[in-house]
Amino acid sequence: MNPYKAIIPPLIISVFAVVAQLFIAQIPQPLQQALPMMPYLLLATLTLVAMYYNQGGLFYLTWVCWLAYLLPGWTQGMTEAQLWLLWSACCVILALLGLISERGLLSFAGWLTHLVVLGISAVAYGLQLRYPDLVAGWLNPQWLPPNWFRWTSLNQWSLLLWLMVFMLLLLWFIKQQRRRTFDSLLGLLLLAVLFHVPDSARDMTQFAGLLCFLFSALQKSWHLAYVDELTGLPGRRALQEKLQRSLGIYALAMVDVDHFKKFNDNYGHDVGDDVLRMIAAKINQVTGGGKAYRYGGEEFTIVFNNHSAKEIKDHLQAVIDAVADTPFVVNRRKNQKPKTVQVTISIGLTDSIHKANADETIKTADQALYTAKKKGRNRLQLKAAS
Ligand code: GH3
Ligand code: MG
Ligand code: MG
Repeated sequence: MNPYKAIIPPLIISVFAVVAQLFIAQIPQPLQQALPMMPYLLLATLTLVAMYYNQGGLFYLTWVCWLAYLLPGWTQGMTEAQLWLLWSACCVILALLGLISERGLLSFAGWLTHLVVLGISAVAYGLQLRYPDLVAGWLNPQWLPPNWFRWTSLNQWSLLLWLMVFMLLLLWFIKQQRRRTFDSLLGLLLLAVLFHVPDSARDMTQFAGLLCFLFSALQKSWHLAYVDELTGLPGRRALQEKLQRSLGIYALAMVDVDHFKKFNDNYGHDVGDDVLRMIAAKINQVTGGGKAYRYGGEEFTIVFNNHSAKEIKDHLQAVIDAVADTPFVVNRRKNQKPKTVQVTISIGLTDSIHKANADETIKTADQALYTAKKKGRNRLQLKAAS
């Protein structure tokens, strides 16, 4: 995932929420009255989405944050130790959500996760019932002067746990750049904000927080639909949409790996996948303003908007040379001698001038590719628009 793209929507939603809360009196009455209902609507939507798409992560995230939303209102009816325990449970569940991979909601692994969460909660609750003073003592250490913490209703243990989980998830996110970890970080922030905003701002906070989760789920499904998992390049659907939107002239190159079937047969499908990743990375570095897509299988497409085919020939030749000059090491297993092989690609190039539609442009580029293969591969072939 692209961290910057992920961060922008929550930032925009937060700015809107802060401004709306500051000027809440100016908002039309019916909207003000509808605000307390919005978190409930989003809770129902997110729960349905999580169940429909079997997303255990989204389900727990939503409900943990719902607990955090209700908790400040419950504090009168519970002991401080119970509150700290629930806060700790929220932090621990968010940490687990950010670290482990998706287990599904109603799958076998999903049910196991529910059992583990239920088990931990039951043990914590039982301990607290049986030994309230002991638990309260554990959860309320006085490491630092208490007057440093006047700004918060939370105690030192709760703050430290939150901080530790936040730092852990932040480091994990920087390393792995996974959306789940990002969502858990958002959940932690929401948890902290919910506990420190005035009661009158809690509905808006929860509304904004759940909206961020919904947006994140939408971004994730967009990513699944448009981005190829193996290479990280945008896929065929993205290419088709791009070509539908391209009104002016564009040059289009079809790229195909040479003798790839033989390569797979000799070294195995996994090594073939590694080759595809390497080639995708090289193609993605194309200069001259080209945008690379995985067309399907071992074929890629590069589109150069507002350029004719002749103008970008050199940029494509550079890609062909870069792939051919990158030695690829196979037989990386312990008992086999490493061997270096050369992988090459062929490219068919054309442009959209005189073409009625994108399909025709692709067809012409394919014909050029066929000629490049016939001429001996590892080369570029241009087919001018007729
Ligand atoms: P040519 O030089 O004429 O293009 O020969 P080729 O062997 O590359 O062409 P062909 O179309 O016969 O074979 C394409 C091969 O690409 C067949 C298929 O196994 C392999 N392939 C397609 N998609 C993938 C993939 O995602 N991973 C791997 N490892 N192989 C793939
Ligand atoms: Mg092919
Ligand atoms: Mg091929």
